[in-house]
Amino acid sequence: MDKKRILITGAAGFLGSHLCDRFIADEYHVIAMDNLITGRLKNIEHLFPLENFEFYNHDVSNFIHVPGKLDYILHFASPASPIDYLKIPIQTLKVGSLGIHNCLGLARAKKARVLIASTSEVYGDPEVHPQTEEYWGNVNPIGPRGVYDEAKRFQEAMTMAYHTYHGLETRIVRIFNTYGPRMRLNDGRVLPAFIGQALRGEDITVFGDGSQTRSFCYVDDLIEGIVRLLHSDYEKPVNIGNPDEISIQDFAEEIIKLTGTDQKVVYKDLPQNDPKQRQPNIDKARSILNWEPKISRSDGLKLTYQYFKNLPEDELYKKDHYNFEKFIK
Ligand code: UDP
Repeated sequence: MDKKRILITGAAGFLGSHLCDRFIADEYHVIAMDNLITGRLKNIEHLFPLENFEFYNHDVSNFIHVPGKLDYILHFASPASPIDYLKIPIQTLKVGSLGIHNCLGLARAKKARVLIASTSEVYGDPEVHPQTEEYWGNVNPIGPRGVYDEAKRFQEAMTMAYHTYHGLETRIVRIFNTYGPRMRLNDGRVLPAFIGQALRGEDITVFGDGSQTRSFCYVDDLIEGIVRLLHSDYEKPVNIGNPDEISIQDFAEEIIKLTGTDQKVVYKDLPQNDPKQRQPNIDKARSILNWEPKISRSDGLKLTYQYFKNLPEDELYKKDHYNFEKFIK
């Protein structure tokens, strides 16, 4: 039988690369696409020798051409950390608008099923807690996070429109904070920031008073949820995340314990529009996908720390891993 063919955009990124691994393991033919602004070839280079894997260095904000049939498209291309989308706001808006339009157009031409990566950021600084899929959110369109939040909201609207008006098979996953190996050490997100600081012997930087909360999901759990959603027949958005909520102050203390550092916590200004609380309500994922996270934060953090500890020493001191310069127009 012919292998199923899947296109993964953002394939060299943190989540994209884990998706490539999963679909290769499930014996798909994986077509990986990335423009390598924030993604890194290192995340997928182990797949290059495989016959069932091909890579296109392409920016999906431009017309996408993929020869042959496609059964599935996973749209994961986008800067995703606050630091990244502050540095490249226009590209963030373009990939969420032009990029999704190209993906949906390609899906229509190929009669493929599309799954798009949305985010808990569509809920903004939420006034409903925990967040259910029915909540419409509290987003400041012109604040610093607006470029990401509104791009993702537009992406959901466009995807539903293709579903409703063109009958395209679509799936929408709203991803909550996820962590694990292959996060970029210097992408500004809290977990690599804290672990990097601990490994370099620097103070741990908590923004604000640390009372804001997040709920962290280990990457393997998230990937399993996404695969189940792709194969389900549910077209509306589904939250995937781990409801185990923790304040950033307590999280800093967990990282200090995990890494055995004796660094102190220092407090910095809270970024504008930083959500005060975040926890997914995962009732839908439980009932529709029979999914819930299995990996505890303490186990997931150990696995992640192991990864960061084994990185070559010079990685620890690199300021950036991005290729922004060549893309900023
Ligand atoms: N944060 C922090 N110190 C850091 C980096 C982040 O206290 O060095 C805080 C940040 O203000 C936010 C939380 O940690 O409240 C999670 O930030 P992240 O950038 O990981 O993702 P977000 O969930 O805000 O998109």
